[in-house]
Formats: sequence, structure tokens, C-alpha cells
Amino acid sequence: MSAAGDAMKPSPGGIVNAMTVDVEDYFHVSAFDAVVSRAGWDDFDSRVTRNTDRMLELFDQANVRATFFVLGWVADKFPALVRRIGSAGHEVASHGYHHQLLYMLTPKQFREDVRAAKRAIEDASGRPVLGYRAPSYSVIESSMWAIDVLIEEGHVYDSSIFPIHHHRYGIPAAPRHAHVMQRPHGTLVEMPASTVRIAGVNLPIAGGGYFRLLPYGWARWGIRRVNLVEGKPVVFYLHPWELDPEQPRMNVGATTRIRHYAGLRQTTQRLRRLLDDFRFDSVATVLKLVQEVAA
Ligand SMILES: [Zn+2]
Repeated sequence: MSAAGDAMKPSPGGIVNAMTVDVEDYFHVSAFDAVVSRAGWDDFDSRVTRNTDRMLELFDQANVRATFFVLGWVADKFPALVRRIGSAGHEVASHGYHHQLLYMLTPKQFREDVRAAKRAIEDASGRPVLGYRAPSYSVIESSMWAIDVLIEEGHVYDSSIFPIHHHRYGIPAAPRHAHVMQRPHGTLVEMPASTVRIAGVNLPIAGGGYFRLLPYGWARWGIRRVNLVEGKPVVFYLHPWELDPEQPRMNVGATTRIRHYAGLRQTTQRLRRLLDDFRFDSVATVLKLVQEVAA
């Protein structure tokens, strides 16, 4: 699509939203931790390159740039994929190395994980990593020390806080929009996962299982509301495995099965529609950090 075509896209309130992808394989998902050990990752048939390429194709067709939060393990194993993402004009950021929930780690273990991830991703892409997203949004009140580690390890922004109630993540009282966090050793921009606030309760609108399980109209209504009523961008997120209905099935309980596998056949179609209904760019662009990416 031409630049002129892009300018014609609907843009409620003139807002450009952030499109993000957590680049991991179907067997990295936190909900499978009980049945998949880290030592066993190499035994699975990896599908992350073909699924991420599928995503790159969809973004290319819609003339959209996104942020890809890549797992360090994926960057070390498939550096050519990371290069393809970067050379298509997307931002490459970090999803940590081993996909461990932060509140299960010590600050020292977390530092080792994010340092290894940043190195692996920067080696593969040849460009500095500015942003980080925790596995399963696991920056919660008891793991806020992670923000200090991210600053010390050279990150500029974080997108790991989900201001909702959820059994695995969430800080319900956290600010709902991008803001600067002042910490003893510096600052970090926080770009929280997007919600709408109804009757004092924050409800998720933009990504992952919520996008697959709830009607498309919910995401569209929520994004329009945040763009038009609040005048703010949303952060949308998806995983490459969410475009892959053929992925091998894990032996997990019914709730996890529904959360992970429901709606996979319609994700591609829904994503196309979303890319048509709203304007998106990378987090660095939305936060106006682009100069630093180019430097
Ligand atoms: Zn993840």
C-alpha cells in the first residue's frame, strides 16, 4: 500500500496506536510451564519462524510497522528471523531470555535473564534494544524491583504492567496510559497494556486471548473509546502462535485449553480487520523514541 493509502486509513481522534508482537513459540507459553520444561524446548518442532513470517506478511500488506518483543532464546536460535523483522522496518525489543515469570525470580536471576536477552537480540538485529515486555505481564506489585533492573540494564521503556485483576498478573491501581516512572537510579517510560475503565473497573480490550475469545466488536469499541474519549493510543498485542491453528496440542486442563486454542482459526481474519480499522506503528514511534532507535 502506498503512503497516500496509509494516510486514508481511519484514525479515530487522529491517534496512532502501538502494535506489538511477543515473539515466542507455542511451547513457551507460561500456562504450559507445568507440562513443558525449559530443558525440553529443543525437542519441540519449532514453528516460530513461519508464524512470525506470516505476521510480517500481514503487516506488510497493511503497511503497518510494529514492535516485536523477541525472546532471547529465539534470537540466538533464529538470528535471521530477527534480521528480517528489523530490515522490514519494525522495532525489535526484548521479551527476556527464558520466558520465566518475574515474580518467580530473584533480582539477580532477572538481571542475568534480561542481560542475556538484550545481548542476543542486539547481536542478531545489529540495533539497540530500547524496550522490554515481561512474560505474561509479570511485573506486579511484588516484582516492581524489576523496573530498577531494567533501567540499570539500559532499557528506555517497559510494557509489562497490566492494570487489571487476573490470577497470573496485574496491578489494578496502576496508571492506564503511558507515563514516566521515576526511580532512584533513573527513569523508565511505562506503556501499560490497554483497558477501558467502566464503573471503576479496568477491563482488557486489546490483545491475546481477549482478542480471540471475545467478539471483535469489543476490541473495536474499546480502542475507539480510548482513542476518541480519552485521546490516548492503545497497545495491541498478539503472539505468532495465535495465527497458527495447526500447532501441536499440549496435554493441559480445560481452562488453559480454551484460553490457548479457542479462536485460532479466526485470528488472521480479525487481525486484517483491525489493521484496516485503525492506524498502528511501533511503540518507539508512538512514544516518540524513534530518534534513539535510529541512532
Ligand atoms: Zn510471552
